[in-house]
Order: sequence, then C-alpha cells, then structure tokens
Amino acid sequence: MDIARTPSSPDGNIEMADAAVEPHDPPEIRREDYRPFPWMVPETRLEFDLGLESTRVRSRLTVARNAKADASPTIRLNGDGLIPTSVKIDGEPTRAYTMDGDDLVLTLPGEAHEIAIETEIDPSSNTQLMGLYASNGMLCTQCESEGFRRITFFPDRPDVLSTFTVRMSGAKDQFPILLCNGNRTDEGEDGDTHWAEWHDPWPKPSYLFALVAGDLVARSDSFTTMNGREVELNVWVRDGDLPRTEHAMESLKRSMKWDEEAFGREYDLDLFNIVAVSDFNMGAMENKGLNVFNTKYVLADPETATDGDFDAVEGVIGHEYFHNWSGNRITCRDWFQLSLKEGFTVLRDQLFSQDMGSEPVKRIEDVRILRLAQFPEDSGPLAHPIRPDSYREISNFYTATVYNKGAEVIRMMRTMAGEEAFRKGTDLYFDRHDGEAATCEDFVRSIEDGAGLDLKQFRLWYSQAGTPKVSVELTHEGEEAVLKLRQTVPPTPGQPDKKPMPIPLKLALFDQQTASHSGEQLIVLDTESAEHRFDGFANKPVLSINRGFSAPVTIDRAIDREDLVFLAASDDDPFARYEAMQDLMVRHLVAAVAGKLSEEERNRGGASIAEAMGAILADPDIDDLMRGELMSMPSQTYITEQMELADPGLIHAERERLKALVGSQLSEPLHRLYERAEQVPFSLDAEAKGARKLKTMVLAYAAASDPEKAAELAAHQYDRADNMTDRQGALMVLTGLEGVERTNKLLDFYNRYEGNALVIDKWFALQASSLHPKVVEHVKALADHPDFTLRNPNRVRSLYMAFAGNPQGFHAASGEGYRMIGDLILELDPINAQTAARFVPPLGRWRKVEPQRAALMREQLERIAKAEKLSRDTYEQVSRSLAD
Ligand SMILES: [Zn+2]
Repeated sequence: MDIARTPSSPDGNIEMADAAVEPHDPPEIRREDYRPFPWMVPETRLEFDLGLESTRVRSRLTVARNAKADASPTIRLNGDGLIPTSVKIDGEPTRAYTMDGDDLVLTLPGEAHEIAIETEIDPSSNTQLMGLYASNGMLCTQCESEGFRRITFFPDRPDVLSTFTVRMSGAKDQFPILLCNGNRTDEGEDGDTHWAEWHDPWPKPSYLFALVAGDLVARSDSFTTMNGREVELNVWVRDGDLPRTEHAMESLKRSMKWDEEAFGREYDLDLFNIVAVSDFNMGAMENKGLNVFNTKYVLADPETATDGDFDAVEGVIGHEYFHNWSGNRITCRDWFQLSLKEGFTVLRDQLFSQDMGSEPVKRIEDVRILRLAQFPEDSGPLAHPIRPDSYREISNFYTATVYNKGAEVIRMMRTMAGEEAFRKGTDLYFDRHDGEAATCEDFVRSIEDGAGLDLKQFRLWYSQAGTPKVSVELTHEGEEAVLKLRQTVPPTPGQPDKKPMPIPLKLALFDQQTASHSGEQLIVLDTESAEHRFDGFANKPVLSINRGFSAPVTIDRAIDREDLVFLAASDDDPFARYEAMQDLMVRHLVAAVAGKLSEEERNRGGASIAEAMGAILADPDIDDLMRGELMSMPSQTYITEQMELADPGLIHAERERLKALVGSQLSEPLHRLYERAEQVPFSLDAEAKGARKLKTMVLAYAAASDPEKAAELAAHQYDRADNMTDRQGALMVLTGLEGVERTNKLLDFYNRYEGNALVIDKWFALQASSLHPKVVEHVKALADHPDFTLRNPNRVRSLYMAFAGNPQGFHAASGEGYRMIGDLILELDPINAQTAARFVPPLGRWRKVEPQRAALMREQLERIAKAEKLSRDTYEQVSRSLAD
C-alpha cells in the first residue's frame, strides 16, 4: 500500500461505524503474543450478489487443522459490524456458534470441514472506505489491513493464505465491468444481470482480496516478460478520463521491465489490472493482479498535472507493482512486520525512480520527505521502531517510520554490502521465502547469508526508535587529520536507554586548494565513540560526511562557515553539496531565531548565504533540476527539529526575512535565470522540467523581496502557461500576495477546471498552504464552499492537511488553527476514522513548541480525548500524544 504522499516541496456504514467505535482503552496487541493460527484455509469460494445498497455475500471456506500450530477445537472468524444470516458446517445449517464481540466463533471436532456463511452488507453507507464500498456509483474494496472482515467472516490475518475463487453477479447497466484478483475463468448473462467468475491461483491473505464493479473503460496494452509470457495490461477509469492514462500505462510497463532487470522478478499472471477510484483513504493498494489506485496516482496530462504529479504517478505505479513480489508472493506474518513489505518496497520504488530520472535529485527529494515526515515522528510522542512492539489500531502504523525509515534501513544494508552482494541477498530472500508469510528477521537473515554481512548489531535498527545523532569533529596534527565521531540515540517513549547502532558513513577529505579528494571511504560507526586517523595531509582538509545520506541520522559537525561554503560550491557528491547549502541556512536561521545575532550579523550572515547561492546560480556544470534543489530553503519543520523548543512564528518570520534578503541581493541573476528558463519550450524532459522548477523558485524569492514585481511576473506566467506546473507555480505565489491578481487568477483557475476533482483539490490546497496573512479566514470560508466535503479523503487532505502544514495558519498565535484541526478531527472521526486520526500528529508535536502555543495545542488534544465516542484510531493517537 502507499500512504498518500506528501508533495515533496513543502495519503461499514453508519451502523458499522458505530460498531467500530469502541469504548475507551481498546486492548493493546503485542508482537510477542504472536501464535500461528490453529486452522488453515486452503480454499475460499465467494459469491457476491452486487448492489450499491445491498450486497449479499456467500462464503465457503475449506478449513483444515494447522499441524504447525497448537491444536484448538475452536475457530475464530473475524467480523466487523457483520450479522450472519446463515451458517452451515459441512452443508448442514447450524446455530452452534457464538459471537464474541464482532467475531464469529465455531467449535469444530475432527480435522477438516467446510464452513459456509451468508452475510448482507450496505456498501453505499460505508463512509470509512474500508471493506466493500460505493464510490461514484461503482463498487470497490479496500482490505488492507483489516477491511476484509467488513465483507465476510474470515481469519483476517496476513499469515492465513488461501486460494480464492470468486463469482460475482450484478445489473448489466449498473456494473458492466466486473473485476477481481487473478484470471477470469468464466462469464455469462441472465436477463438484466450478468456474472463473472475469477480464480487466483496464488494463495494469498485476505488483505490482498479485491473486487471492482462499475461502468469503466480501459486503456489496454501488453507486456512480454523475460521468459516470453504475454501479459494483458489494463488501466480502468471513468469514461472521460481515458486520455489522462497514458503516463500510468507507460509507467507500468517500465516498472515491469525494471523489476526484471534490477531484481530478477517476473510477473506471474496473464493479466494485470489497475483501477482508479476517486474516494480512497490511501495512495494505492497492491491487491494481487488488481491494483486499486487513488485517481491522484493514475491520471496525468500536462494540462492538469504538475511535473511532481507525473513523478508521483510513476513512483506509486512502480511501488504497487513491485509489491507483487515484496508483499504478495512473500507476505507478512503479522502486522508488526509491515516494514518487511513496505520498507523494502519503498526502497525498490526509490531505486526505480532514480533510474528513470535524476539519481541525485531523487535522493534529495527522498531525504527531504524523510526529514519532513519521519524526523518529527521520531522525536515526538508517536515515535516507534520500524518494527513496532505493540499497537491498538494498526492503521495508525502506516507511518513514515515504517515506510521511509524502513527503506533507509534496508538501503544501509545495500550500502554496506555493495550493490552486487545485496542483490545476492535479495535473490536468496525471494527464493527462500516465496509463498510464505515472513518476518523482518527472515529478511535480515537472508541478506546476511546471501550478501555475506554480519548484521547482528544492525538488528537494533529494527527495535530502537529515535533518530541517532552523530557528533563529528575533525582536527589536524602534523600530517594527520583526526576524525572524532560520537553517537547518541535519544530516548523515546518506552525506550529510555539505547544501545549504539552501526551507522555507515560515507566520507571524503577535500584538499581545499585543488578542490579534490583521494576517494570516498565508508566508515561504520558501531560504538558510542570512535577516532579515525588519515595520513598525508599537509594542510587541514575539508570533511564531507554522510555523503549520499548514507545513514538516516542527524550530523552535528563542528565546521567553519567557509568550509560549508566550499562544500556547497565544490563537493562532487550532489547530496553533500545540497546538505552544505542547507546547513549554511539552518545554522543562520537557528541562531537568528534564538536571538544570538545582532542586526548586523544577521545581515552579514544572509549576505554570505546569498553569495554562496549566487555561485550556484552561475555554475554551468549543474543541471537546472539540481540547481532548483540547491536553491531551496530548509523547511520550517526541519528547522524546528534542530531546536529544543521552537517558536513557529519567529521561525517563519526569520525564514521569510532570509528569503527576502537573498531575493533582493540576487535579484538580477535570478531575473536572468528566469528569462533563460522562459525560453525553454514545454516537454517532459529533464531540461524543460528544470526550467519550470527554476521559474517557480525565482517567483518565490521575488515574492519575498519585491512583491509587486512578483505579482506581475506570476500573473504573466499564469496567463502564458501551457502546462499545470507553470500555472500552479504562479498561482501558488499569487495566493500569498495581496491584490487584484490574486482574486482574478483564483477565480479563473476555479472556472477553468470546475468539475475536475483533482485540479480543484489543488485549488483548495494552494489557498490553505498560502503565505497570505489571512489564511485562517480563507480556510474557514473554503470549508463552507459547496465543493468541500468530508466524505472524500482527497478533498479533506487538500484543505486541511495543507493547512496543518502551513506554519502561518496552523500555528496562528491565537490558537485558531489548532481549534480548526480539533474541530475537524471530532467531526470527521465518525465518518472516516482512519483519515481523522492522521490529523492528530500535528497537534501531538506540542512538546517541541514554545509554552504558550503548546498549551493551546494540548487543550485541543484534551478536548478530543474527552469526546463521548471516539474511534480506536483517533483514541490511540490522542492518548499517546498526551502520555507523559
Ligand atoms: Zn506499499
């Protein structure tokens, strides 16, 4: 599954919802309590009589005792808000079952039986979007992690694998297309209804089940695998959306080819279907042979999608496709092992995107997302290891830690082993565990055996939470450079004491005169402190460390500003160059916010940053995509992470001030850059994408230094735009400024794209994330806009997630922003608990914030905690956020 991605610049019915609302203090589920399920379910047959308001589900499960588990005469079938209308054992109706909470429990003598159960559900009132639900007149499913139990009674856990055969029938006019996992084996019609039968030959857990029925059209194509298997490919969408599916199809074919070449993985069915759905909690879902996607990650054309959207579509299509091996063929034993499939698959999609585009730029984007979403998680009340030890609601653990830090942990193994040896490790893993429900431990052992690494101590990365900090000091004695390293892993909830972890650090020592080094080295810091000596340096070299972001740590380095300027201009590792530039800005901003700089020091510091950036603007050896990265300012979140206690208002003000200073000092070269970029005609190649990135970057600096000029330029760019990247960039800048152009262009944008949900989402998000001083009022008004609804997660995120990430609005000194998010959580919780719970973490960061605002944030959490009825999702997040 893919969590709805953060854009890299700044994812039952009402009665059933009631059933899902549990009393406070739901039970904690612990990893150490895992036991294999006493029964196996070799075969599952399902029959669906489809209807939007009423769908009847008949299931027949073949069950047999599991010799590998403790014998038990009872079998527990999970349910969630279901009422069985009929239960049969071996063909005989029975009432000899009990309901334990929502679960159905049967006592079965003997070794093997057939259980048949009928239920009836109402997809149209399923607002939680888990299980079988209606979206725009079509029916679709989302089962990961515990949605299948909202469809029928089943051992709904990932270690129970079964072969599914499904028959579905429905009205021909309402559901002309009937799709399921695997291959279609039969179809027919009967008057106004028709039916289809599907069989998936690969045993799978229930969370990978999927069904789609509706009025859809397909872009079709085919792919020939490395062993000559012909695979039919379809991307299914609503009628008018077909022209916007080409990029998705091309991305799918590239993913299939890449996985063969990079990991030796071949597709294993004759058919691969992707369906785009507009109401979806997450980014996309890897159901076997039938991926269900948020429309956001399928539909793209230059008129309606930005360059970032194009990249995201490619990344998410790749991600879900790669799950076919890392997730489906080898699945997770239990949900504590989620990072087994997600961490590994995120790494795979990152490597794929690196190969399809610019490797360094992709690396910088991935690190930026990690710092934006994962570092704050690791330093806050919701910190957890990539393999958690306990949870109350597993939906809350689809986190940047499990996904993105999980990917970094596996990337470190790859760095230490080298690419070739790492591939031997993954080959062994796929070979050894194919068809199994495996654990993170199985993965680590395969890499150890296959790649020949000793990962004994490295396993701490799976069990310890918190971002390690490495203090770095380089001294010079005689001909020797001496490097002193020290690591600390901060305490996190439930883990007060940490052990030192192996931290692979790529480094290089530069001769300042020649701007060269004698080769990159890899040092693994696996003790609390270490010292390394390097011979043959007549002068003190300049240290470049954690190159390529070889470890997900923070580096605390004692380094002169001149050396950072040198690295920003001369480092041959693009990431290290970016990092030096970020470091320069972060140091300046942190000192300024802390009040440590006089007016004059502030101006001088800003001027020297502008100078370093000027060198980057003028450097002919970097491409524009990379130039755009080097020019970008550190995010408010990242700056906050560098401080003990942050004042969001001050950080914002200092950041804007620096932007203005750089903008005015470099106004001429920036303007020249803009004029050059304007000459590049539209295409999707790297040069043109780079040019577009620069244009918006220049506008952003201009908006801070010369708002009038910026408004004029932006309005011009908006009018001339022949693509969404330019148009959105211009509008983004305009929404932050006062004046008539703001009103005009916002109105034009809305009228131009009215009815196109994904673009109208942008219209909401741009206003909610704007730098305009009245953003709080704007967001309040937008919440009353006729196009706003709490029923569509994309729309909710576009308004409120954008707002929660906007320091000006969310952290308004009055506390109004916190109150708005508090209100939202309470109102959304009964409708869509999963999405509501995702808004708790921004409030949960109160400990990092100055006391006055912290109290206001806490107040909202306490108000939510007191609510009479609260979902398990929201309850868990709120109580953890308040815990001491
Ligand atoms: Zn995934």
